[in-house]
Amino acid sequence: MAAVGLVLAVAAVTIVLGRRRALPPAPPAPALPAEPAAEAAEPAAASEAESAEPEVAQLETPEPPASRLSRLRRRLSASNNPFARGLLGLLAADRLDAEAWEDLEATLITSDLGVGPTDELITALRREVAIDGVADPAKAREVLRAELLKLIGTDTDRSLRVTGADGKPGVILVVGVNGTGKTTTIGKLSRVLVADGHTVLLAAADTFRAAAADQLQTWGSRVGVRVIRGAEGGDPASVAHDAVAAGIEEGVDVVVVDTAGRLHTKTGLMDELGKIKRVIDRLAPVTEVLLVIDATTGQNGLAQARVFAEVVDVTGIVLSKLDGSAKGGIVVPVQRELGVPVKLIGLGEGADDLAPFEAEGFVDALLGES
Ligand code: GDP
Repeated sequence: MAAVGLVLAVAAVTIVLGRRRALPPAPPAPALPAEPAAEAAEPAAASEAESAEPEVAQLETPEPPASRLSRLRRRLSASNNPFARGLLGLLAADRLDAEAWEDLEATLITSDLGVGPTDELITALRREVAIDGVADPAKAREVLRAELLKLIGTDTDRSLRVTGADGKPGVILVVGVNGTGKTTTIGKLSRVLVADGHTVLLAAADTFRAAAADQLQTWGSRVGVRVIRGAEGGDPASVAHDAVAAGIEEGVDVVVVDTAGRLHTKTGLMDELGKIKRVIDRLAPVTEVLLVIDATTGQNGLAQARVFAEVVDVTGIVLSKLDGSAKGGIVVPVQRELGVPVKLIGLGEGADDLAPFEAEGFVDALLGES
């Protein structure tokens, strides 16, 4: 009897497993709602994407970039962000004695704001706010807001340069160390561009990372963006060349080029990025060079930024992972060090969790204002 039972059980398991194997590939993810749920926003694994044949049938509609910062603002609030917490601590203090100012100074420095900007902010606040206490919290908040905006810069042009000359595509070169969130950022960026009504082509010019190219393909396929890739270990400049040539031929608006992010030697990096840029420039000038920096890496991120800035003319910064364990103050020193504006910020792993950076929205999110 037991033996019969065992045989039946084995047969049942075999049938179930057999069925599983025979299942058709999963259908593509449905279109995202305006506020995508985190789990729906995760890109599918590359193998699934490749097997999901008719994926073009159901393209997603990315969220319009303008509404993103306000949707994601809670990720910058004091409960998540030490920089915001430090600033709000000032407003909550009932006495601003020497000790309170010292505490604030220490908090701001450890929130990656850096020594120089911290000094400036505290000097300005001490000048403006009553020395012996925050007599009027509304006034203190107003002063704090104004001084922060001054540090970050409100009249900076943070728009992406996506328009090429002579009817050619704009070309965005994306650089940065591997692990900073570069691939994810490029995936999200293509959605920003699509949401803005642009046609886009991606170039997987980091030929040493086949997985990154697969990941790009998955991102692209969700919004109808094609990826040009080369042989594994092939010449990155040749992939960039082919992509830009295809972009010109097909009349796409923007070509986004992923690049190698191995910080081997500065010369190696310079040679590789220099060659890619030269090759592209011959076809259609690079219009934007975006450097992706992981905001959670603080001083390390700044050091990486310096190396890249010496190697290539960076025109915009993407601060990824500003949610999570990032301390937030880094926006100011990174702009100062590089003399280049932060143009986009990554605030999560969701597909549309990349927002155009905007000083007012950022400061209001930090200070918890609507
Ligand atoms: P790459 O090696 O630089 O291409 O890095 P990836 O794009 O593969 O990203 C590395 C990890 O960082 C992945 O788990 C991403 O989901 C994650 N990541 C990227 N951007 C963000 C962000 O803005 N917020 C958070 N929380 N995670 C992010």
